[in-house]
Amino acid sequence: MIETVQWSPELGQGAPVVGIVYGFRVRSTGEYRYIGLTTKGLQRRVGEHRKVARDGRKTPFYDWLRKTADDAYEVVVLERVVTSREDLGQAEISWISLYRATGDRLLNLSDGGLGPTGVVWTAEQREAASRRSKGRPGISRPGELNPMWGHAHSDEQKARWAASRKGSNAGPENPNFGKFGSDHPAYGRVLSAETKKRLSEQKQGELNANFGKTASEETRAKMSAVRKGRPMPSSVRNAHTRHHTNKGVFKETCQHCIDDRDNERDSS
Ligand SMILES: [Zn+2]
Repeated sequence: MIETVQWSPELGQGAPVVGIVYGFRVRSTGEYRYIGLTTKGLQRRVGEHRKVARDGRKTPFYDWLRKTADDAYEVVVLERVVTSREDLGQAEISWISLYRATGDRLLNLSDGGLGPTGVVWTAEQREAASRRSKGRPGISRPGELNPMWGHAHSDEQKARWAASRKGSNAGPENPNFGKFGSDHPAYGRVLSAETKKRLSEQKQGELNANFGKTASEETRAKMSAVRKGRPMPSSVRNAHTRHHTNKGVFKETCQHCIDDRDNERDSS
């Protein structure tokens, strides 16, 4: 909702109104998030702001406006200026500085005043913005601005894409192929117990890619050749003793761990 200001040259104390300073205020908290000035009617200016937001402009204020429901804020007139445009600019500067001082998290980029935005870019900023905008395949159109919003790609199309991607991230094509230890981007990364549990559950039983599969004779021969001469546990029982009992590890999936625990319970 917008506080409606009937636009009339006689607003104020009979003197022609040059313009107004307005603020976007959050209804629930009373906090101001943006202060602006206009020499047009307020309704019209707010309509322009909303259109700019819909068109996807990326500034803190428009990002906020896009994600905030229309009825979550109100636009209020802070001051009507009847003297001059310079005074209008000064009034805006004063209101911005007032609400910054009171701790309202204003999203204004500038400190106010006249001029297109009041922001003066340095040569470096211009250069950086120019670089960012070059070679960009398209503008971002989030949510309902996107032509695909509410639509889904056909299964045939998805299958074509899957086929064209197949193998494109495998083996030498993978950017991390052949990187080990500290060369690997995930080196030293520690997963939380929660994450490890989830990853583990995702690979249990029939969820496992190898569930119910048997390696071919050829594969088994390769695996056997790799292990030749390397001491292996002679049995599952032996492996359990070495890797679980001796290291104080308990594994739900190891029958011997479960047996040991049950025996302990029976004897205590
Ligand atoms: Zn065990």
